[in-house]
Amino acid sequence: MKDSVAPQISVVIFGTAEEFRARPFYRDDVVPTGQKPSQIVGSYRLPTPVRCGLKGCDQTHDHGYVVLVADGAETNTGWDCGMDHFGIEFFPMRKQYDRAEREFPFRLSLRQVVTDAERLRKRIHALQAPPHGGEWLLQNLRRFAKLYPPALMATLRKVAPQGEANVFESRLRAHLKQNAAAGRNAGVENNSAHDVREPRGTVCGLKIFTLDLEHWPVFQLEAELNEFLKLDHDTIPFDQVMRWNEWTQALELRLDEYQHLIYDGKKFFRRDNLALLQYLAEEQKTQDELSWMVWGEASAEAPKPPARARPPKKSNSLRRILKRLIPSPQ
Ligand SMILES: [Zn+2]
Repeated sequence: MKDSVAPQISVVIFGTAEEFRARPFYRDDVVPTGQKPSQIVGSYRLPTPVRCGLKGCDQTHDHGYVVLVADGAETNTGWDCGMDHFGIEFFPMRKQYDRAEREFPFRLSLRQVVTDAERLRKRIHALQAPPHGGEWLLQNLRRFAKLYPPALMATLRKVAPQGEANVFESRLRAHLKQNAAAGRNAGVENNSAHDVREPRGTVCGLKIFTLDLEHWPVFQLEAELNEFLKLDHDTIPFDQVMRWNEWTQALELRLDEYQHLIYDGKKFFRRDNLALLQYLAEEQKTQDELSWMVWGEASAEAPKPPARARPPKKSNSLRRILKRLIPSPQ
């Protein structure tokens, strides 16, 4: 069987017998010629049975078709008696029409999305718009990835699905470090059971690290919308119709999701939130690097680190780093 795109069949569903009987070319008592109709023009499923429109046929039915017969007249015939009057050739015709009828609501819903396309495009653009939309978030995430240690990036991606993370400072570890510095062979073992973990706060907005910077969702959405609008929704194969229906159903949810992610971005890129990242880092080396970044900010409240723990002054002080990130509205 040929698996090409079916020819376009227009589906008309009649709600009452009066609707099709009122059509200008409709006739009752049409003499069957044995020729198949040139077209099925519509169908009906009625609550009460109607009489077949062919002469001499007294059958009644509730599910039938309005057909265009050879002489240009239209009449109605039932699911079964169409075969009696028009022969076996009516069968593929009926089958094709039935399929088009089944697909009709799905194609119709795609056409409705087309009429809604401008609103969707505006919503996509609004998501990306400055000053603190998707464009801002994408820029900040790219800069952040360059400025912050790769080890921290790896941790952030790992905890990202949780959305936020409570962070602690382990005091004993600092103590042990001093001991270790005093004498590495003193036999001091790092026993985490004795760690005093002091809560430092909650790092927020972590979900933004689930975003794919190479396939930025807002651009992705607009590209998909453009692809969708190029389609001929009446003739594309039905599996594509179903695929695009799923796409349209998920669209608003995806837009909502990205709106939330942009909101998360505003929570993440705040100075107080960034200052907590040192406690999220898993490795001591990264922690030191980040704590220095925070100390780099001249703050009266920030505890002065022991001089020997402070790494040599680098050009990328926190102040500079923060300058390169565009701050969130506070
Ligand atoms: Zn009949």
